[in-house]
Amino acid sequence: MTEDLNQPVPLDASDQAGENQASTKKNQETPGRALFGLDAKALAARMVEMGEPAWRGRQLAEAIYRHGFTKISEITTLAKSLRHKLTDEGWEVGRPEIVQTFQSEDGTERYLIQGGDGLTVETVWMPEGDDEETGDESEPETTDEATRRHQRATLCVSSQVGCAMNCQFCLTAKLGFQRDLTAGEIAGQVVAVLDRHGVEVGRDRVNLVFMGMGEPFLNYDNFMAAVRLLVREVGLSPQRMTVSTSGIVPGIERFAQELAEFRPRLAISLNAPNDALRDDLMPINRKWPIAAVVDAVRRVQLRPHERITFEYVLLGGVTDRIEDAKQVARLLRKTGLSVKVNLITWNPGPGIGYSLPQPEAVEAFRQTLVDAEIPAYVRKSRGRDIYAACGQLKRTVEG
Ligand code: SAH
Repeated sequence: MTEDLNQPVPLDASDQAGENQASTKKNQETPGRALFGLDAKALAARMVEMGEPAWRGRQLAEAIYRHGFTKISEITTLAKSLRHKLTDEGWEVGRPEIVQTFQSEDGTERYLIQGGDGLTVETVWMPEGDDEETGDESEPETTDEATRRHQRATLCVSSQVGCAMNCQFCLTAKLGFQRDLTAGEIAGQVVAVLDRHGVEVGRDRVNLVFMGMGEPFLNYDNFMAAVRLLVREVGLSPQRMTVSTSGIVPGIERFAQELAEFRPRLAISLNAPNDALRDDLMPINRKWPIAAVVDAVRRVQLRPHERITFEYVLLGGVTDRIEDAKQVARLLRKTGLSVKVNLITWNPGPGIGYSLPQPEAVEAFRQTLVDAEIPAYVRKSRGRDIYAACGQLKRTVEG
């Protein structure tokens, strides 16, 4: 409701909003030279500035967001003279590039994707999804082979370089916070990977999860600008996108105000059955404890059949006991929200002193939740061998 849909989506959106002071220093040195990250409206405005008709902006948007062009010289829908003019004025498509690929034995791929200043983030492609029920429960299954091809693929997208949250079990935390990604850099990860896999938006259905490096709700403006680009310009559905937050209350409150047509599904990283333990595992809980997060989540108006996902990392002997499961069940039932729980077996990383939960503990935890009428699923760990699994993204090349 507070969205101005006509607002252009500049690469340095966060700076314009006067927030996120640390962001995109490098990009400010070459303001606006990348076309990628600008929406059709903003592209039209540039075209008009150059003495071209406004509809050229729509053409450009289609070329870079729908047809995957990465070089202005190749966009033959534009007159050669216009292509030259753009290049002469220093414009480039500027889509982030996949600079390295790691392939897991389970089909998962992890990419290092590079932005304008040479910093890389990680993006993960999971051909069979990351979950037995990733898909939208309300959507019917189709048997059409062509449609099925990428039906269950899931793309895990980063929102920041590094992360400031310092969750004790997560490897990305070890990097610390480096900078926010721009809207173009967030959406660019998606377009680059869809392109690599020949995904046809509209035919193939792919799930996006904003669960890579970083805390999306601490880079709110750029994150939402990226979602709008992905919905409007790329043609993806927000109902097949999920954003996960560690519990940034002001971010959740803003999210609750978003129009449904641009609002992904919401996941909360709960990870502990009570505030005492959550304070230790996730320092952000000392600022916004569980009750404050739940109160903010209540403001989100869910679509029919939509549930709020609570993610819960099972740390052996720390968060995986039956008593913990009972406490989680009580806590979630008390909220009165429509919820489901995704259980994530902890993925190890160097220098992190936790242990894996026993498989029986994982199953007993899940069953305890289900017995309490809380739908609970165990997320399969994907790409652990290439450090692509949850909490393992660290801009590593050592793999
Ligand atoms: N900052 C956001 C999104 C990134 S983390 C958030 O906190 O939600 C994505 C998910 O991975 C979170 O639910 C987090 O709790 C989980 N995670 C982090 N480290 C993990 C690890 N080592 N093993 C398993 N899951 C992990």
